[in-house]
Amino acid sequence: ALERGEFLLHYQPIIAMAGGEIVGAEALVRWRRESGQMVSPMDFISIAEESGLIVPIGAWVLKAAAARAREWNVDGRRQLSVAVNLSARQFRDPNLVEMVRQALAEPGLAPRLLHIEITESTVMHNAEEAIAALLALREIGVRISVDDFGTGYSSLSYLKRLPVNHLKVDRSFVKDIPGDSDNVAITRAVIELAHSLELEVVAEGVETDAQRKFLLDQGCDYAQGYLFSQPIEAEAFAALLAAPGKAVAQAKPRRRQPSPKR
Ligand code: C2E
Ligand code: MG
Ligand code: MG
Repeated sequence: ALERGEFLLHYQPIIAMAGGEIVGAEALVRWRRESGQMVSPMDFISIAEESGLIVPIGAWVLKAAAARAREWNVDGRRQLSVAVNLSARQFRDPNLVEMVRQALAEPGLAPRLLHIEITESTVMHNAEEAIAALLALREIGVRISVDDFGTGYSSLSYLKRLPVNHLKVDRSFVKDIPGDSDNVAITRAVIELAHSLELEVVAEGVETDAQRKFLLDQGCDYAQGYLFSQPIEAEAFAALLAAPGKAVAQAKPRRRQPSPKR
């Protein structure tokens, strides 16, 4: 697929909760097969991890996302960030920092506009090693987000020491708020914990206006989800940036979209 150029990135807007404006996007990889069939990352990332192919795929993702973010910020007025997911295997790659550095240098993207997403379970699996790798990444100026937060048994003493900037509240907790009292309690606690550690919070999987309102009331900083937009092709994302009114229109409650194939 790499050789044939069959990978592409979709971008999902990340919204500032208070003002409703787009502050950046998460890059999500897709595999478009020769037949035109679109394959979800849920179906190939773990296989790519096992085979080690995630390293070259991940390098391609980083380069492509950084080049795209440079385009969004070409006139210097905007400061849109791009978030890229990193898998556990990439995280252990001794060449990681150099790869990130190169991906930034080629298009000339400011390092602070690249957000590296790493799941909580990857970080906590080997926390000492993770701290060292994250420190090296932070040294070049990129921002770090802990993805799927709440699902990975964080040790709070490690969390305090991790050089991270954002926690992304896992979609499973955002689901069913404000109706589900357990998820309400968890989401509230994560936001409070993050803020007391001086981290910002991104809520994943925001699908309804009731969820948006609740999260806004709790002081959540950013949100991402079908309520605002599904992950879309780069051209469509650029169009959304050019017509901010459209983003507001999309912020209205929508009928629930079918979940991506798991
Ligand atoms: P993730 O990083 O937690 O990404 C969020 C996933 O939630 C995306 O699924 C996105 O399409 C989906 N999503 C966003 N908003 C909503 C919503 O409102 N409702 C629902 N039901 N789903 C929503 P996607 O694109 O299928 O990606 C799945 C996972 O695959 C990602 O989870 C990430 O862990 C992994 N992945 C995607 N791209 C890459 C990549 O380039 N490299 C690596 N290593 N992993 C990737
Ligand atoms: Mg992510
Ligand atoms: Mg996530």
